[in-house]
Amino acid sequence: MTGYAAVRTPQDLAGSGWYEILPPPPPPRPLEEDLSVDWLVVGAGFAGLAAARHLTQLRDGERIAVIDAQRVGWGSAGRNSGFMIDLPHELNSDSYAGGLEADKKQIRMNRAGIAFAREAVDELGLRNVMEPCGKIHGATDGNGLTALRRFEAHLDRLEEPYDSLSADDLQRITGTDYYAGGTFTPGAVLIQPAGYVRGLAAALSDKVAIHEETPALRIETGADLTVTTPKGRIRTRHLILTVNGQIESFGLFKRRLMHVFTFASMTRPLTDAEQSALGGEPRWGLIPADPMGTTLRRLQEGRIVVRNSFTYNPGMATSPAQVARIGRQHDSSFRARFPMLPEVEMAHRWGGHLCLSLNSVPAFGELEQRVYAACCQNGLGTVKGTLSGKLIADLACGDKAPLVADMLALAEPRKLYPEPFMTLGARAKLWWMHRRAGRDL
Ligand SMILES: Cc1cc2nc3c(=O)[nH]c(=O)nc-3n(C[C@H](O)[C@H](O)[C@H](O)COP(=O)(O)OP(=O)(O)OC[C@H]3O[C@@H](n4cnc5c(N)ncnc54)[C@H](O)[C@@H]3O)c2cc1C
Repeated sequence: MTGYAAVRTPQDLAGSGWYEILPPPPPPRPLEEDLSVDWLVVGAGFAGLAAARHLTQLRDGERIAVIDAQRVGWGSAGRNSGFMIDLPHELNSDSYAGGLEADKKQIRMNRAGIAFAREAVDELGLRNVMEPCGKIHGATDGNGLTALRRFEAHLDRLEEPYDSLSADDLQRITGTDYYAGGTFTPGAVLIQPAGYVRGLAAALSDKVAIHEETPALRIETGADLTVTTPKGRIRTRHLILTVNGQIESFGLFKRRLMHVFTFASMTRPLTDAEQSALGGEPRWGLIPADPMGTTLRRLQEGRIVVRNSFTYNPGMATSPAQVARIGRQHDSSFRARFPMLPEVEMAHRWGGHLCLSLNSVPAFGELEQRVYAACCQNGLGTVKGTLSGKLIADLACGDKAPLVADMLALAEPRKLYPEPFMTLGARAKLWWMHRRAGRDL
């Protein structure tokens, strides 16, 4: 028997706009007694809910439970910018692109993740959580335009469609003249992230026991698989860990995962007069030409969401002071782009955890007999988390689908450099990348 005790559990700070603009959820149902199930999924983000949904498809009638340390949608799954991107999105590059064959494979995988999420939305009747409207890459200066032209040349080689946008096109769509040009790619889907995961969990709850505010504190493996929570022990025949970077808190993938945070602010709804002063289209999503720049979304209800800045936080937590400091950067990015909205204030600010590996691969597979992991999504967790959750359920049920083989063929997350070089190096690299982003920030 092997035991893994969690040295920490997630403590995401309040403030996520996506969560707060939804109606309050019904009260949670933390686990308060012992439980025996066939399948236990730990973590109710994109990966965990996709795994649970796929298990209901593959093993209808078996006992399936999901536990999460927090409310569904409170963690990163409910606090991201909601871009489900089908194309390569390598944050660690200067134009999101990677190698040709690797990118073709990544596109196939991303599209399978998006298709699984879209099918869930349609079949489960989730409303107002997903729009298949594509995304814009926006460049703010000559460097950004050069990066976009490189990205477009890469799309040509991949035989992927796109439209090149002029500065005037960008202004017509977004209302701001801040951008020098852009590239529109049609395959991205935008979600209300907290609405999506909360809707998915609610729709699954007639077949899956979902216990929120129920952290896994200890895992015992061997002939009997058990998970200890504050008020009950769960015996399970199969265990699927979908806790993203928190898997390292159990001592698994130790010193192989990088804990990076990124931050966002959301305005109050714009008044009618402010919407007229802004002009542009009522809904769009823009990611920066430089991956270290500013992501923007305009929402149907007249709000604007700004996301930028990455920090390396090996302790897996941010602080109110860090959120406030980066909030000032958001204000300055917002004012630079929207000088016609001088009175518009941010109503919500938050940060959230991303898990990356040095070689951009997930922590995926069977760790021990009947114990599986689908963690570390390398930034694009809306899509990669969804797909890895589906595929881990396939693997656990013995299905060797081609995409499962593709996932298993990936290398293991590479070992990090020794401390203090890792933390110093990561922070220095982020500092340099932010500087390089220039006006894109
Ligand atoms: C501001 C921001 C913007 C982002 N924008 C995008 C974007 O536009 N597109 C995109 O694809 N990605 C984006 N991301 C990244 C994306 O949110 C993550 O990659 C994604 O949420 C990972 O999904 P997951 O299901 O693997 O993990 P998570 O969403 O992190 O879910 C893991 C769950 O496990 C739970 N958990 C952890 N430990 C325990 C435990 N011990 N016991 C029980 N439960 C536990 C957590 O509470 C959490 O709910 C963004 C992230 C942030 C913070």
